Amino acid sequence: MKRFALAGNPNCGKTTLFNSLTGSTAHVGNWPGVTVDKRDGVYKKCAEEVKIVDLPGIYSLSPYTPEEVIARNYILDEKPDCVINIVDATNLERNLYLTTQIMEIDVPMVVALNMMDAVEKQGDKIDEKELEKRLGVPVIKISALKEEGLKELMDKAYNESNKTREGVTVLEKSSLSHLIGDVKIALKGQKVSNPLFHAIKLVEQDSIEVEMHKSTVSMVEEFKNTFNDEIFGTDFEALVADARYKYISKNFAPVLSRADKTKFKMTKSDKADKVLTHKIWGIPIFLVILFGIFHLTFSENLLWLGSIFNMPSLKDLGLLTAGGDPMNFGVKLLACIYDGAIYSPGVIINNIWNDLIVGELFGLIKGGVEASGMAPWAIGLINDGIIEGIGAVLSFLPPILVLFLFFSILEDSGYMARIAFILDRMFRKFGLSGRAFLPMIMGFGCSVPAMINTRTLADEKERTATIRVIPFFSCGAKLPILTAVAGAIVARFGVGNADLITYGMYLLGIITAICSVLLMRSTSLKGETPPFIMELPAYHAPQFKNLMAHLWDKTKHFVKKAFTIIFASTVVIWVLSHFDFTWHMLEDEQINQSILAQISMLFQPIFTPLGFGSQLGQYGWVFVLAAVSGLIAKENVISTFATLAACLAAASSGIIEGLDISAEDGVDAVVAMIRVTGITIPGLLAFIAFNMTTIPCFAAVATAKAELQSSKRYHGTLVFWIVTSFAVSAMVYTIGSWWWTMFIWAAAIAVVVLCIIAYNKRQTLKQQ
Ligand code: GDP
Ligand code: MG
Repeated sequence: MKRFALAGNPNCGKTTLFNSLTGSTAHVGNWPGVTVDKRDGVYKKCAEEVKIVDLPGIYSLSPYTPEEVIARNYILDEKPDCVINIVDATNLERNLYLTTQIMEIDVPMVVALNMMDAVEKQGDKIDEKELEKRLGVPVIKISALKEEGLKELMDKAYNESNKTREGVTVLEKSSLSHLIGDVKIALKGQKVSNPLFHAIKLVEQDSIEVEMHKSTVSMVEEFKNTFNDEIFGTDFEALVADARYKYISKNFAPVLSRADKTKFKMTKSDKADKVLTHKIWGIPIFLVILFGIFHLTFSENLLWLGSIFNMPSLKDLGLLTAGGDPMNFGVKLLACIYDGAIYSPGVIINNIWNDLIVGELFGLIKGGVEASGMAPWAIGLINDGIIEGIGAVLSFLPPILVLFLFFSILEDSGYMARIAFILDRMFRKFGLSGRAFLPMIMGFGCSVPAMINTRTLADEKERTATIRVIPFFSCGAKLPILTAVAGAIVARFGVGNADLITYGMYLLGIITAICSVLLMRSTSLKGETPPFIMELPAYHAPQFKNLMAHLWDKTKHFVKKAFTIIFASTVVIWVLSHFDFTWHMLEDEQINQSILAQISMLFQPIFTPLGFGSQLGQYGWVFVLAAVSGLIAKENVISTFATLAACLAAASSGIIEGLDISAEDGVDAVVAMIRVTGITIPGLLAFIAFNMTTIPCFAAVATAKAELQSSKRYHGTLVFWIVTSFAVSAMVYTIGSWWWTMFIWAAAIAVVVLCIIAYNKRQTLKQQ
């Protein structure tokens, strides 16, 4: 089967094209660097089926980032039958820089001028016939988004793939042409394939090339010496880049004619950017948007209308029975939407899912299991262990999907890329480039792809620092912890708003991340901050198809996890909580003699400074266990509570009066734990903070290990996670419990900062 490779700058629309051609639903992001690994699919509408390979986005074929190396090696070594070079026509000049490099390789190629819809909308024109003539390779106008011109593109590519093409260079007409020509002849003599490409890279002193053709390096140096140093100077890389850009702006750029050359017109996108990326207002606007999202997802008092207008509750309206239940189905439905205040869309979907669908369904299954006449232990395992555990996790599907819908809209519209831009401006001074924020923001979805995405960072130290803080951007699996605990705080203590608590905890994670990056970049991981080159894509309305694809992926992933890892964990936890060390089966009330309880109790004292250790008494170990089970998958934290709720209720019923727990969902499970252990609000907040900042799930740890490569860095990372989580949650607990400890923490932080400053000063003095 023929193979066509898609190559182009980040954000030029490669993945969109790939999806249109292959009918796949790969992740499309309106920011650079979303595709890191290559991936492939099949296109069926040519004379024969062809394989399409989506390469990572790159600005050049230099080996500065791992992605550039992946793309370059693919084209050179795997020799695709045709390279489809995608060019973002709205950024023609900058995109052609890569084109001039691909042209130097002996491989058939076509140029796809993408985003022509956007170009035409601006009223600009591109003379593609002229461009084709000047480049010497076929040029086809397309719009990947509108699926226009794709058939022509593929037919042309197919045609080209049947021919051979020898590399050509735009450096032909520069002062370097003789030097390059000489090196090329020498390489040809050595039977090196792609002699032109390698010759140019050797002249540039490209590190991979120097490594590969060691014997030729001295020869190139000699060649260089025979030419006059004064013309060239010594920085050949800059010289080559400069020659390329000059050629492009002189010869290729003129094919573009702008709509109105005399008067610069601001597009809608520019106007929006004037506000959204404003120097001062940019960040506050972002925080307000973020709060708006949390409000729409979690608030039970939409726009505070309930408080403003003093709306009547369902009880006031006389719609409840004497027992406090809805009178009929209509009221039940109404109760999902309204009770004294209008609920936010997220809460409404959540209520419908949990009260009308999952709750009913699990009720039926449980009834069936009880009526089946199985052994009591089996009924206990299925009903109290598995169904409660998985049910608690599944009950969080709606808030996760709603939150992700909002995040996808921000991302797809192009706003997230602006955030990176705003933050870059702010944090450059502290050793962090905006580029590093993109994987961090991806961390809100899942740490695993986010960590892989750090391959776009050229600097190894910046990359390590970024990988370490990615888990602090609370991922989808941590959301149940936040929602359940926040919901339980509201339900049990009657204070605060669930949306505010959730928002606050997300912010705490972000702030922890930023502070620890600053700390690392000024101590153990010091280094230059690489420049941040990023094209801000024009805003556009998010694509419905895209959004649905994101949500569907998320749902599949979540449900699959619930029925595999979470299922297995709940079984293990239930079994270990019903047997003692002699493998004697225990009654529910005897849970504290179980293997699980005995082991967890050993670790309880460690968590005392964090507010969920020894002070919680004899059943407090359940918080320790939940946190530890979270190391497998973060969903386990809440499912552990739910799985053990029935036993703990039975065991503690002698102590706590009127405790009747049937944990229908995650919030109820946490309420049960609060009643059994008497944990305080600061203790609960510290518990969230701990789970957010400690060692992430198994999958994320494995990814970090693979991506960090050095085992020293990996072990350092594990220590970093443990230390940070203890420090942050101890701070949350102590300040929450005794406000004046704030001053002690502030003083301690000040001392650390002063020490770092003093140490750095001494280091610089020493160097001088
Ligand atoms: P990649 O980084 O090269 O894989 O780029 P993506 O496929 O992720 O696309 C980046 C952004 O450009 C997305 O927001 C796309 O919707 C948008 N985009 C892609 N192709 C077109 C197009 O033909 N026209 C317009 N207007 N936008 C496009
Ligand atoms: Mg992509």
